[in-house]
Amino acid sequence: MKAIIIGCGIAGPAMALALKKIDIQSVIYEAKPDTDDEKGAFLGISPNGLNVLKQYVALDEVLTEYTPGKIRFFNSRNKAIGVIDNADQISRYGSQTVQIKRSLLNSSLRKAAQRADIRVEFGKYLVSVVQNEENGIVTAHFADGSTAEGDLLIGCDGIHSVVRQKLFPDAPKPEYTGLLSTAGTSNLANFSLPTDAIHMTFGERGFFAYAVSNHGEVWWFNNIAQTTEPSRQALNRSEKADLTERLLALHRNDPEPIAATIRAAHSIEIYPIYDIPFLPEWHQGRICLIGDAAHATAPHIGQGASLALEDTLVLAQCIRDFADLSTAFTHFQSLRQARVQAIIQQARKVGDSKTVPNRFQQFFRDLLLPLFVRLEARKMEWVYGYQVDWHRKLV
Ligand SMILES: Cc1cc2nc3c(=O)[nH]c(=O)nc-3n(C[C@H](O)[C@H](O)[C@H](O)COP(=O)(O)OP(=O)(O)OC[C@H]3O[C@@H](n4cnc5c(N)ncnc54)[C@H](O)[C@@H]3O)c2cc1C
Repeated sequence: MKAIIIGCGIAGPAMALALKKIDIQSVIYEAKPDTDDEKGAFLGISPNGLNVLKQYVALDEVLTEYTPGKIRFFNSRNKAIGVIDNADQISRYGSQTVQIKRSLLNSSLRKAAQRADIRVEFGKYLVSVVQNEENGIVTAHFADGSTAEGDLLIGCDGIHSVVRQKLFPDAPKPEYTGLLSTAGTSNLANFSLPTDAIHMTFGERGFFAYAVSNHGEVWWFNNIAQTTEPSRQALNRSEKADLTERLLALHRNDPEPIAATIRAAHSIEIYPIYDIPFLPEWHQGRICLIGDAAHATAPHIGQGASLALEDTLVLAQCIRDFADLSTAFTHFQSLRQARVQAIIQQARKVGDSKTVPNRFQQFFRDLLLPLFVRLEARKMEWVYGYQVDWHRKLV
């Protein structure tokens, strides 16, 4: 069998490597004109994701630049209100949460796929897919007029998936969650900053997190509550100077080094945060969706990439063990859907705690935060403890 994979983000190359394990050769088609290994913010990857990742690529290759995964929480008056410690994760789960640059994760997976003779074609923006029921061939049509044929197609094209829109035009669209995220990197010479944990502050009017990388750079992000969804074009037009002013105003009463970090930013990215709480169908015929295309989650508990990685191994296992693709895809969805939906809900809840419309609510939020942080930390155990037993036969 030959697989067409749409998207060379995180799920795409990992999926191709998983299919290689069961002797299915793939070609990956990516919309971007070329690699963009230097771009992008950073993301958390937790034991459940790392345990899959290390089946595809040596972790040493990926973890060259990282920040710790332990988290310390503070309220807007800089009072410590909780900690999520990850010291015991190696003994409990086999891997330890870290933050890494998205581009590094992405390029390590892509290079591992290319080393395994998996072809990646850039500049291939998928516009439609056609399934021929008689001969079982799937044809992908690209914006440049070219086509590709395969026996199956996996949509790894992210939250705004064209594969999903073509397969299920009436499916629920990604929902704007009421929060924007900014992210940047800075160098701060005049502060002695903690290097053992991410420092997260529920600020007076916005959430701010920073951590120091093993190269001494400060990686940070913030969340801004905004009820109306901004257009992508408006955000793309945002000038760094305007973003800096907006962030400084939002965090003006919050403790340092927040303002200093914002002022020292090399660049600032801004994104609206979406999720897809429920997608009824993930597959049709010989086409299946995985990763953000099927179940995008808000980033507040750092699970999007890890869930995409989990998907790849489970889907390859289903294709290996079930007699036909349709049965394999059906089992894949039933094995994954309850878990990802619960995580999407959990992430939404954490995101909602970052929204503080007035001082009254802020007072009660700060009062309850220590308890909330403790409960949320405990809730991550089932998320991190997930293992895909590749050698177990599903039938
Ligand atoms: C601000 C922010 C912070 C985040 N923080 C975290 C975090 O801390 N931890 C975490 O685990 N996750 C985090 N995530 C989520 C994480 O980035 C995603 O869950 C993850 O990238 C999903 O992988 P994917 O391969 O499904 O999609 P993507 O990584 O988005 O890859 C999709 C690929 O498909 C390509 N593509 C799109 N359309 C087409 C088309 N029509 N034709 C061809 N190619 C196409 C895109 O160019 C892209 O390369 C965050 C996301 C955001 C926005």
